[in-house]
Amino acid sequence: MTAPTAMQILGFRGDLITPDHHDYDGARAVWNGTVDRRPRLIARCGGTADVAAAVRFARDRDLEIAVRGGGHNVAGTAVCDDGIVIDLSGMRAVSVDLVDSTALVQGGALWGDVDHETQAHGLATTGGIMSHTGVGGVSLGGGIGWLMRKHGLTVDNLVEAEVVTAEGDVVRASTTDHPDLFWALRGGGGNFGIVSSFRFALHPVGPTVLAGPVFWAAEDTTEILRFYRDFVADAPDELGNVIRLGTIPPLPAVDEDLHFRPAIAVASCYTGSVEDGERAVGALRQFGTPLVDLVGPTRYVDHQSAIDDTVPHGWHYYWKATNLTVLSDEVIDIVAQHAYGATSPRSYAAIFHMGGAVARAPRDATAYPGRDVGHNMSIDAVWLPEQDDTVGAAETAWARAFLDALQLYRAGVYVNFLDSDDDTSRVREAYGDANYRRLVEVKAKYDPENVFRNNKNIQPATPAR
Ligand SMILES: Cc1cc2nc3c(=O)[nH]c(=O)nc-3n(C[C@H](O)[C@H](O)[C@H](O)COP(=O)(O)OP(=O)(O)OC[C@H]3O[C@@H](n4cnc5c(N)ncnc54)[C@H](O)[C@@H]3O)c2cc1C
Repeated sequence: MTAPTAMQILGFRGDLITPDHHDYDGARAVWNGTVDRRPRLIARCGGTADVAAAVRFARDRDLEIAVRGGGHNVAGTAVCDDGIVIDLSGMRAVSVDLVDSTALVQGGALWGDVDHETQAHGLATTGGIMSHTGVGGVSLGGGIGWLMRKHGLTVDNLVEAEVVTAEGDVVRASTTDHPDLFWALRGGGGNFGIVSSFRFALHPVGPTVLAGPVFWAAEDTTEILRFYRDFVADAPDELGNVIRLGTIPPLPAVDEDLHFRPAIAVASCYTGSVEDGERAVGALRQFGTPLVDLVGPTRYVDHQSAIDDTVPHGWHYYWKATNLTVLSDEVIDIVAQHAYGATSPRSYAAIFHMGGAVARAPRDATAYPGRDVGHNMSIDAVWLPEQDDTVGAAETAWARAFLDALQLYRAGVYVNFLDSDDDTSRVREAYGDANYRRLVEVKAKYDPENVFRNNKNIQPATPAR
């Protein structure tokens, strides 16, 4: 079959990128450099009408569809072989409405775009903890970040969405319009349609917050984690914490002789006054013998991009993930035993502290299921594209063995942290039986032919093609 040309997509005004285009390789590349898929066509949309035109075009020709938001998903679901990529990366506009404190965000925006515009007004919503992650994928899977304990997950802040359905129609989803679709969008991923724009509730944040990591030597891991478990049990909602176990990244603020030294870090962000933040993190900073303490007043936007360079686009990645109910002594021992077993100094594990407003949201309000989760853990193998396959194999084996060791303590998983070899059983694990069944019903109503299947797929109850 010959590649479709611009003339063949009726009503499409964006850019069409075919394999003979000079930017084809750039346009098909995603964040995870191990992903190497060759779509027949990349339809880079300029707006909602282009998205609808591209969906109808693909349906008419029975083309496989992949949807690209920020291109960050580790499983590489933003691209497919031989089909069409409906690419939203040209749709990154953000506008703030100060009357009702909301932001209208196009479906291909990155969190850096959202923070940039909202922080100009001293406002923010819960987003991912890096600036180059996409709003689309994060929001549809749940959305965990620094602000979640105070303001809820990203899905808890979603007010409405404009959705292009599998039929190519444009609908609005909110608590009053298509409420079943709106429920499913808030955690169910890209299974139900393409969100061309999101409207999020905003909250006063910063612009200066108290934030940053404290690092301790890897040998101190057990005592730091035991202390941390008690420290976060009483933490105020304003305090977000993420543990990072691996090596000290070569950040400009860190002395060179500490670069790549095995270490445990607790990174914090306090979203109240700096003075209250100093009190809230005081005990943490004073515990044990930190190697380096980078906590201080910082602009929230800067904190949101502080670790961007530690996981840039194009490196090679492989993830395993699990939720943990508590950091028991047994879990801590396993974590301490495995965390530093990677070969690559760039590999690490991260543990997000959940709770607060996340746990207080009504259980059935959204499709995101993990309201009771204490900690959300991802085990992130990272190596360089120029390193040979044995390094990738060793890192992958490390991540798998680490997760296997936690088998007895696994308590579900965050769908957005699943990798390409996490099969449908793990998608079920992510949602739990009750939410999965409800998602299947919504899928059968809005996408009975499973047109949107390049994702962590929820199969419709009716036969899919
Ligand atoms: C370095 C890094 C840091 C991360 N940090 C966080 C974090 O702090 N918090 C967190 O919650 N998650 C985080 N994640 C995980 C993140 O939630 C997922 O990777 C998410 O899928 C990324 O969204 P994206 O739009 O960039 O991805 P893409 O790869 O573009 O999209 C992934 C899937 O989402 C769907 N999708 C994307 N946009 C749309 C849309 N507009 N409409 C319909 N479907 C769409 C599609 O099914 C697509 O296949 C992180 C990931 C990485 C790699």
